[in-house]
Amino acid sequence: MTHLDPAAAARPSQATLDAQIAHLRREGERGAYVAEMEAGEVLHSARAALADLMGPGLGPDDLTFHHSASTAFAALLTAWPLPPGARVGVLPSEYGSNMLVLEARARQAPFELIDLPVDPQGVIDLDVLDRAGMPSAQAARPLALAELDLVVFPQVPSQRGIVQPAVEIGRRCTAAGVPLVLDVAQSLGQIDVRDIHASAYLGTSRKWLCGPRGAGFLALRGDLAERLNVGVPSLYTARRGEDGWPIPLPGLSRLAIGEASVASRVGLAQALTELLASDPRLVFGRIVRLAAQGRRALDGAGGWRVRERPDSPSGIITLEPPPGVDPMAVRDRLYRQDAILTSAIPVQRSRDLEGPVLRVSAHVYNDPAEFEQLAAALNRGPGSSSPART
Ligand SMILES: *Cc1c(COP(=O)(O)O)cnc(C)c1O
Repeated sequence: MTHLDPAAAARPSQATLDAQIAHLRREGERGAYVAEMEAGEVLHSARAALADLMGPGLGPDDLTFHHSASTAFAALLTAWPLPPGARVGVLPSEYGSNMLVLEARARQAPFELIDLPVDPQGVIDLDVLDRAGMPSAQAARPLALAELDLVVFPQVPSQRGIVQPAVEIGRRCTAAGVPLVLDVAQSLGQIDVRDIHASAYLGTSRKWLCGPRGAGFLALRGDLAERLNVGVPSLYTARRGEDGWPIPLPGLSRLAIGEASVASRVGLAQALTELLASDPRLVFGRIVRLAAQGRRALDGAGGWRVRERPDSPSGIITLEPPPGVDPMAVRDRLYRQDAILTSAIPVQRSRDLEGPVLRVSAHVYNDPAEFEQLAAALNRGPGSSSPART
């Protein structure tokens, strides 16, 4: 199988699979809770590695595991006190599930969701943002960061091979006194996330970090947790106060989860060890070079067009289909006939999609020749259902 899909779920190493299997065996032999206790140091090392990757000022105790980036985001936004009339800055490229959480919360409070200005590629337009809030002839001027109560966005969206200027936004949010929640589900493990001063981060194991499914994480800077409510009330996050009503447990545990696949976290610990041992900068550099090669190889193949700039510093490539071609059908055909794994992204994934696209992504274990193989397969079958040319 030609695996061109780390943006959905990367191929884990043999050692990562072995670590999970060994943990499952220990659960059976010694009892699952004992096995978890014995894995304490490994789990701590995974949190330390994640904190390390996200940059200075974060430590293992600033981080809690979750089931996924989505559950981490939902818990965080549920716990975040947003008064009626608050304004939350978002992006059109926000991940579909997160957007639904935001919209449901916005309706409840109620608060406003305000789009930050973006350029035609979907990248935050810093010039427009910096002029925002100044007196303007336009009736609907964009809001300045200082007029917002919270800013939330994915550093790398799921459906576009772009990277947001998160360092610059983080700096501006700090100056304006606005907390920033940064979604690194699609960026941690493929690009440098250090030096972004976000208030909170959420991410997932199975994509660019090459860990197992069923693990995600949430990191909060400083004492932010103390100012939040409970995420999902449970014996792991809350207790009954003197008046009999639930109150949050101290610190980050108020946003934690109870039952989870500990084997997934043990696997993630192994994947992180491998990433840190192989020098992340070299890994990130290779991913960006591969994507540039991929865009050159794929643009125009079978009439598909690459949507992002050739040198965009993301490992994600998205392809717009030729007229009348269905990306879902082509993904299926590529898998069945050509043994090439890609993703088809439906319009529901994000507000900024005008139609479904085919997503191709490459990790360090990929090779430029695999893009040539995919280009040839796209050239063979121009339409979703046309017979292959010989
Ligand atoms: C995949 C993804 C998520 C959700 O991650 P899960 O682990 O599937 O919940 C969130 N944001 C972005 C940008 C993603 O690509």
